[in-house]
Amino acid sequence: MREVLDWSKPYHRFFEEMTRIPHGSCNEKQYSGYLAAFARERNLACRQYDIGNVIIYKDASPGYEDHPAVVLQSHIDMVCEKVPDCGHDFERDPLDIYVEKGWLRARGTTLGADDGTGVAYMLSILADQEAEHPPLECVFTVQEEVGLNGAFALEPEDLKGRRYISLDDGGGGAVTTITSAGGMRWQGTFSIHRKPCAEKGYRLVIGGLQGGHSGECIGQERGNAVKICGRILNALEREGALTLSSMEGGSKDNAIPRDCQAEFVSAMDYETIGRIVQSAASSIGEEYRYSDPGLTVSAVEAEVEGCWDHDESRRFLDFLLICPNGMRRRSMNLAGLTTASENLAVVRTAKDQAAVTISLRGAGESYLDEMAEELRILSGIYGIDAKESSGIRPGDMRRIPI
Ligand SMILES: [Zn+2]
Repeated sequence: MREVLDWSKPYHRFFEEMTRIPHGSCNEKQYSGYLAAFARERNLACRQYDIGNVIIYKDASPGYEDHPAVVLQSHIDMVCEKVPDCGHDFERDPLDIYVEKGWLRARGTTLGADDGTGVAYMLSILADQEAEHPPLECVFTVQEEVGLNGAFALEPEDLKGRRYISLDDGGGGAVTTITSAGGMRWQGTFSIHRKPCAEKGYRLVIGGLQGGHSGECIGQERGNAVKICGRILNALEREGALTLSSMEGGSKDNAIPRDCQAEFVSAMDYETIGRIVQSAASSIGEEYRYSDPGLTVSAVEAEVEGCWDHDESRRFLDFLLICPNGMRRRSMNLAGLTTASENLAVVRTAKDQAAVTISLRGAGESYLDEMAEELRILSGIYGIDAKESSGIRPGDMRRIPI
């Protein structure tokens, strides 16, 4: 296999080796084994957990023996996302990486720089015989992107260090992470009743958006495909009424949805539908001209199998329009820091229900509490059966004014 990066630099080599081993969340077994073998080859003490976490210990370099131990941490799982027509199999295939204008990319898929970058740096330090450092406890966790499951499984007695540096920061390059925003997942279920319908069927497709990580990119005004789809459906509903048949958008809680499609029936003819969609799409396109110039919107005639009760359809569209999304608050102290956000992440519909997932992030407890309370009120108004889960409380921000 040809090397894409410069393997004379350990950091490049370790990153590229990682891209050759599948390591999506919950599929970290092989990479966890790679880490254990890495430690064995270098005679470094190591503990491998059943869940896949690995801790590698390295003694202090000469002269630093009496310094306190430092814990370094990164996660080995990546978010597996690909463009719709990409045939990549995340369970099996190595990533197809290449360099473009000085940036490393992966063809058709996410690259896994979050948190392959942190992993590669930690391995470089562990492999470096010349580096000067105190005793190191290098923690590699699994299933971070799906709820920090690896971190929760850590056993405190495995770590002596009281100083901790996470190599999983949110960008900027000059930032060292010592705390984290809290998060919560909100899942709402709407009951729907289907009936046969005689009106004409249509499909609305939203695509071409940048998406991105809902923690890192939420402050960049990127378009949310589900939200945009909801707005255009609302425009149609206002002008001539429609009834939903299905809606599918987004794929992961922590990704801003790039694609969404909805099927519906309406008494309006194709020309009228086309005109309304075109007009809504052009004003929305103008809003995202700089942040998301690739936005595409299309409406086509389609075979549609049955539709919802019209009132339920209208209520669902109202909710999509009104539900909070995007950056909610930002720091007045640290420039560019989003302190509270919501990501309308996934919509799925089935025979008798529609499900919506929203992920909440907040740098302080009160932000999360406020957003969760708003959603509780909305759930009551719209008759949504809602549950909140995976509540991760924010890290200790007391010494870091936000
Ligand atoms: Zn990460």
